Amino acid sequence: MDYKILNLCLRMQFGDTDNTVYPTLLWDRDNIVLVDCGYIGSLPILEQELQQYGVSIEQLTTLVLTHHDHDHMGAAADLKRRNPNMKIYASALEAPYISAQEKPLRLRQAEELQHVLPPEQQEFGKAFCDMLRRVEPVKVDKLLQDGDYMDWCGGCRILATPGHTPGHISLLMESASIVITGDAIALEEGRPVIANPQFTLDLEEATKSMDYLWALKAKTYYCYHGGTFTSKGQTNPHEQD
Ligand SMILES: [Zn+2]
Repeated sequence: MDYKILNLCLRMQFGDTDNTVYPTLLWDRDNIVLVDCGYIGSLPILEQELQQYGVSIEQLTTLVLTHHDHDHMGAAADLKRRNPNMKIYASALEAPYISAQEKPLRLRQAEELQHVLPPEQQEFGKAFCDMLRRVEPVKVDKLLQDGDYMDWCGGCRILATPGHTPGHISLLMESASIVITGDAIALEEGRPVIANPQFTLDLEEATKSMDYLWALKAKTYYCYHGGTFTSKGQTNPHEQD
C-alpha cells in the first residue's frame, strides 16, 4: 500500500474537562489531507501530533472540513496563515457558515437557546456564545457535492450526511473500507451514537445519515468524537497508553 490513513488524537483541557478529538490524516504520494482540525487554539497540539508522523503543517496540501462547528474548524484560520498553499474543502451547503458569509447556524442556535436557559446556566450559555463568536472564518477554496470523488489514498468518496448541520459531510475511503464519520456518528464508551443529539439541527436527518453510514458496512469507522470503531468493537490505540 502506498498510502496511510491515520487517526490523529488531539487532547485539549478546558478547565477540568478533558476534550479529545480525532482528526484524520490522508497521506499518499501527492497529497497530505487533514480532515477537520480541532478547537480554537489547537494548532500547537496538532503540530506536535503531526510531527510524530514526520509531517509538518507546511506539508499539508488540503484541509477538509466536515462542517462549521468550532471543534472542527477552530484552528483552520491559524493553519491557513501558517500554510497559505493549503486548500480548504467543504460542502457547498456548509461553506457560507465556514466563511461567515452567513451567520453560523450553531451561533444562531446558541443565541436562541440563551433566551430560554435557566438562570444557573446563563453564564455557561454566554461563555459558549462568546467562544463561537471567536471562531475565525476561512474562505473555502473548493465546494464539495455529494458523490464527489477524490483520488486520495486509493479513492475517497464524499458523502452528504446532513442532520448535525445541513451541509455535513463524511468521507468513504473506498479501497481501505474506512468511513470518516465527522459528527454523523460518535462513539460513547465504544457505542455508536448521534453526536450531541440536543444540539443536532435536524435529528431525523441525522438518524438517516447515521443509518446510511452503517449500511455501507465499512470495516472501520473513524469517529471524530470517540475514535475508531471496527466490527470487532472499539479499538483505540491512543486510549490504551
Ligand atoms: Zn464535533
